[in-house]
Amino acid sequence: MTTYLTSYDPSNGEPIGSVPVSTGEQITEAIVAAHSAAIAWQRLKIDERVKVLESSYAKLLPETDRLAELLSREMGKDIRRATGELGWVVHGGPHSAQSAGEALQSRKLGDCTRLEYHPLGVVAVISPWNYPLAMAGNLIVPALVAGNGVVFKPSEETPLIAREFVALLNQVLPPNLLQIIHGDGEQGKALVEGNVNMIAFTGSQAVGREIMARAASRLKRLVMELGGNDPMIVMRDADIERAARFAVASSFENAGQMCISTERIYVDETIAERFENRVAELAASYRVGPWNMAGVNIGPIINAEQHRKIVGHIRDAEAKGARVLLGGSEQPQRYIHPTVICDMTPDMLLEQEETFGPVVAISRYADIGEAIQRANASDYGLGAVVFGGTEAEAVADRLEAGMIGINQGVGGSGDAPWVGAKQSGFGFHGSPDGHRQFAQVRVVSCSSA
Ligand code: NAD
Repeated sequence: MTTYLTSYDPSNGEPIGSVPVSTGEQITEAIVAAHSAAIAWQRLKIDERVKVLESSYAKLLPETDRLAELLSREMGKDIRRATGELGWVVHGGPHSAQSAGEALQSRKLGDCTRLEYHPLGVVAVISPWNYPLAMAGNLIVPALVAGNGVVFKPSEETPLIAREFVALLNQVLPPNLLQIIHGDGEQGKALVEGNVNMIAFTGSQAVGREIMARAASRLKRLVMELGGNDPMIVMRDADIERAARFAVASSFENAGQMCISTERIYVDETIAERFENRVAELAASYRVGPWNMAGVNIGPIINAEQHRKIVGHIRDAEAKGARVLLGGSEQPQRYIHPTVICDMTPDMLLEQEETFGPVVAISRYADIGEAIQRANASDYGLGAVVFGGTEAEAVADRLEAGMIGINQGVGGSGDAPWVGAKQSGFGFHGSPDGHRQFAQVRVVSCSSA
């Protein structure tokens, strides 16, 4: 009997569609079919594979408005942000394909050695719900350009948009090369344990650990893009207006449901009051509501469990003596109104864990050494930012993160990798080095006959 996975509109809890959950047999069949399809795909030259990818992404363009609306309805982000994600995917996919195509060309090392990049076989792509298309595409594109087949398991929160995305790409891709399976962690486990050669995963640290343990028996390749608990340091000579604007925008983007959102802020005590007040003022101008409400910029929280977690973090901070400048733990169902909390201390969940909600959490410091120590006192190390004057570079040098922003957000321009440090992941994507993670490097050496 077929079981169905229902997708809900997070703004009102109403069902918007469903997909059949993949059985164990279907997951195995998808992997087998992707292996077979990859044989012919691998015979194409890389440039030909890039062209096919470009043509498949071109199918998304005329569907942008329809896809953006579905993305909004299913994930909750407002239509402007959903359209932004679509724009990024439609243009970023082909760009990433071209860049992977260049990175994966054979290279000569000296006179008699050549580096070649061969396909691995089948890559399992497992993705989260917060940027359901962007996160999936980041992993699918380099995997395919490298000559692999792909079996993709989207998040159980966003199966409908993922199904549309794959259906459009598959109008051009060779049959069976890109497979989609549906379900939750159970189907994810089955995929990880199946006959796949690599697992490219974006999601939480906890699930990353489970996947790594399961992949160990056959030493499957891993790309792990995991969660973050990004710190921000605001130094005494920082531009307060600029820092406050960044703090609010970064904490509230995508309703705070972003891996690189600012989660905790350490501000020099001499400027703290001005900074905190300005943050509260800016935060108060944010509008909460469903995706299609005019002027909305904070959508619903993805599900009740995540809502409970955010409220729990705020309540914990209140109980431990935090000052609430805006919002607080009294919240309606489904939404979190913009919240600004001061006097965060190291024993609070807000400081220790990834909150993943629209909360600005601030702590004052007297000494920059203490701020750096607290910024680094985390297993996470995805992003970190510092706002300040001439000493900001020196502070940035001491921050333990894969991506650092100085007087701006993280994430480089051009073909920079998307990379975490510590337990925020490894085996990154993006950039020539990232694309090469999806291939087997072969060193071929020969002497002239
Ligand atoms: P999640 O880890 O709960 O789920 C991610 C995916 O893993 C889903 O498809 C889920 O069904 C699947 N899954 C769950 N258990 C599994 C298992 N045992 N084996 C295999 N697959 C399994 O994460 P989420 O709630 O969807 O996403 C939010 C998290 O993702 C946050 O921690 C966020 O920071 C992180 N994230 C990181 C990045 C990055 O680039 N580093 C980007 C976006 C999101």
